[in-house]
Amino acid sequence: MPLSVFDLFKIGIGPSSSHTVGPMWAAHRFALQLDARGLMDQVARVRTHLYGSLALTGKGHATDKAVILGLAGDVPDRVDPDAADGLVADICASGRMKLFRRHDIAFDCDGDLEFHFGEFLDAHPNGLRFAAHDESGSALLEEAYYSVGGGFVLSGTEIGKGADPPGSNVRVAHPFNSATELLEIGRRTGLPLADLVLENEKAWRSEEETCERLRNIWRVMESCIERGCRESGVLPGGLEVKRRAKCLKEGLLARPEGALSDVLTVLDWVNLYALAVNEENAAGGRVVTAPTNGAAGVIPAVLTYYMRFVPGARERGVFVFLATAAAIGMLYKTNASISGAEMGCQGEVGVACSMAAAGLCAALGGTNEQIENAAEIGMEHNLGLTCDPIAGLVQVPCIERNTMGAVKAINAARLALRGDGRHFVSLDKVIETMRQTGYDMSTKYKETSLGGLAVNAVEC
Ligand code: SF4
Repeated sequence: MPLSVFDLFKIGIGPSSSHTVGPMWAAHRFALQLDARGLMDQVARVRTHLYGSLALTGKGHATDKAVILGLAGDVPDRVDPDAADGLVADICASGRMKLFRRHDIAFDCDGDLEFHFGEFLDAHPNGLRFAAHDESGSALLEEAYYSVGGGFVLSGTEIGKGADPPGSNVRVAHPFNSATELLEIGRRTGLPLADLVLENEKAWRSEEETCERLRNIWRVMESCIERGCRESGVLPGGLEVKRRAKCLKEGLLARPEGALSDVLTVLDWVNLYALAVNEENAAGGRVVTAPTNGAAGVIPAVLTYYMRFVPGARERGVFVFLATAAAIGMLYKTNASISGAEMGCQGEVGVACSMAAAGLCAALGGTNEQIENAAEIGMEHNLGLTCDPIAGLVQVPCIERNTMGAVKAINAARLALRGDGRHFVSLDKVIETMRQTGYDMSTKYKETSLGGLAVNAVEC
């Protein structure tokens, strides 16, 4: 099934694409099903069962809030992040919900959301099951969904029986499933990777509309950074993690001459952009899933570095960056996974780093071979990166890890640009290595908060 740039870059809310954005879409899809089958008016109760990683880290990732909002008719790209908490609080306090914005039902925020700790559905570590009942308690509809990473959701039928998910009949101009194929198409057509991807996007919409949507993705990334640099205080969830971006920015602006004596000040700015995005994400703010929420800071940080520090940077470079980064993300999504629950953090921050390295290399004029090299370097040195969020919150190590991913991506692009594109390990091989490493990794290091920092760092 061909993927679009906008499957990789989606506007949503924090803190997690697989645990917040995906479950909200799943709940929304279930409510849609009730509506489409004419069952809505008979519904008296909806119960939601959360399994695997959604149960183990769902509270810290606001999965409960996301399910409530989705059932109530909200979707991640349109929900108002500032109003979401109030809406959920009202539903929980009143014990009533307007299902899909129109049908009043009883809703018990504790009893109707069940966290099945230690139980996993067979098809995927992030499973959830909805059941709608009528007044007599008879089941009207039951459906399982799987949040497979990056906000993607598959129903039980789609994941289990290989049924084609929506959009799978789209035919793109330059189909590809591997980096080798991508490079071959580039050689044959003489087109840069970004142009190949933008040609493919015409299967979904006009070029003008694609440009406008890319512009909007960039606008949301920029405003996320701006907001992240304005807000201060402590992040929600109980860990008492202080937001750092505002203070860091004030320090950088207070001593601008410091940049003259310290050429690495640019790294402070890159760190700032990533911190700002991931603090916003942790606070449940508006972010672009890139390709996941936990890793949402890497690409905006590197893109902002490009726009503010590279002489001659322009909007066309932003489009080239995003299209190229998306092409690399598609390869990971197709041949491995971008889910922390399946791959560990190598599948989130590692993939974002690889995508950002390729995007920056392309925006700086790299050849297709250099871009593939940059993407490969970006992942090679993230292989084995585990996912062990403390208290199940997307805060420690996630926020800082994005700063590391961003800086590593810039270095990967620079390393690749200093070469001629020839290198030892191919991108396809590193993606396959990531996949194997992910499946070999113990479950406790895959978004369950059962190992690593999550058990060794003292909670304060
Ligand atoms: S450690 Fe990485 S994969 Fe795990 S929640 Fe944090 S950002 Fe996501």
